[in-house]
Amino acid sequence: MSGKRISATLVVNEDRAIACAACGHTLGPAGAPWKDHARLDEQPMQGAGGNPYTNAERVLLRRFFCPGCGALLDTESALADDPFLTDIVRV
Ligand SMILES: [Zn+2]
Repeated sequence: MSGKRISATLVVNEDRAIACAACGHTLGPAGAPWKDHARLDEQPMQGAGGNPYTNAERVLLRRFFCPGCGALLDTESALADDPFLTDIVRV
């Protein structure tokens, strides 16, 4: 995929859109939050990594997937009502 790489999974393409590095599916314009355009999966962190997370009853693991190819684009941990962590990348 051509474009300027901004993370392990995302590029900014020639149309200045944020896109999946694997398939080129676009996730909105560069400089704007992209996670709203991804497919979100939220799971409780409870027990996700074994014993270290058994006290994390209220903590969610959020995974953001590419709607085009299903690649995992990013993850974050959050409480249920937390807004998405937003990275604004200016290139
Ligand atoms: Zn993709």
